[in-house]
Amino acid sequence: AMQEYSGTRIHVYEPRVDNRQRHRLTLEARLRQAIDHGQLELWYQPKLDARDGTLAGAEALVRWRDPRDGLVAPGRFIPLAEDGGLIVPLTEWVLDRACADLRILMSHGWGDLRLAVNISAAQLDHQPLAEEIARRLTRAGVAPASLELEITERALMPRAASVLDNLNALHELGVAIALDDFGTGYSSLGYLGRFPLDTLKIDQSFIQELGQGSSGEAVVRAIIALAEGLRFEVVAEGIETLDQAHWLLAEGCHLHQGYLYARPQEFETFTRDFIVDDGA
Ligand code: C2E
Ligand code: CA
Ligand code: CA
Ligand code: CA
Repeated sequence: AMQEYSGTRIHVYEPRVDNRQRHRLTLEARLRQAIDHGQLELWYQPKLDARDGTLAGAEALVRWRDPRDGLVAPGRFIPLAEDGGLIVPLTEWVLDRACADLRILMSHGWGDLRLAVNISAAQLDHQPLAEEIARRLTRAGVAPASLELEITERALMPRAASVLDNLNALHELGVAIALDDFGTGYSSLGYLGRFPLDTLKIDQSFIQELGQGSSGEAVVRAIIALAEGLRFEVVAEGIETLDQAHWLLAEGCHLHQGYLYARPQEFETFTRDFIVDDGA
């Protein structure tokens, strides 16, 4: 590392940074291998309409089955993939896997179920995203309306023309757009009407504060009212207790996702528990 003190350049050796760098490189190399060698898995967490318990959709959440470390959660490798450029091939794998799973759902007569895929903020700024997604949907023979993309407020912040172009193109195709972790960004609300959004997903930190007499309740009420006013759907995620579920239902938010209903699970388990049994 190099630091500058009033014109004098001083070289400082920082072994800890070197080690971290080396660790990072090996992890990155292993992640690349994981993508190429089929060590990623796409798990699904159902979203339910809490009024009648029907399945309203599911969120795809990536997992890394590492031969050495076992099942690795995305919090440990998505940030790395975002920094190192692996997020593009990773997302391509996720989209193709989700399309293949949608084909399986179609064969069970569940073709109108919508699967949501997470898209990292930086990718929306990347010009060919919409074309890339359209190409993959066509190749897989999947209707755009079967796909939802979950993006964060951070993705809208650059206000770049390419972000709006990508979202408009996807929306025109029929792909649904959800704003994830809503309420945690630090943007003004004025921008919401300018983007073609369909859904606000209330961040789980607010849900987990419900019933504790904290400001979380006021925030959640405000988000529900905002969604209603803008004619967006509103989804609550991270619901863990019946009290939280009842509170949300009473406040008019009926699309629910959380451990109370189901944890993310392998596609086979998800279809067995929520699709095949239901449809039969
Ligand atoms: P997210 O998109 O906000 O996903 C919600 C996370 O909350 C998931 O963690 C889910 O397992 C967890 N969760 C769901 N219900 C509950 C609950 O009731 N209580 C608690 N405590 N947690 C709950 P997961 O699967 O570890 O994913 C973490 C994050 O990694 C995701 O947050 C998302 O930002 C990112 N991620 C996951 N899959 C992908 C992907 O395919 N692509 C990209 N770009 N990011 C992904
Ligand atoms: Ca999400
Ligand atoms: Ca979220
Ligand atoms: Ca989620």
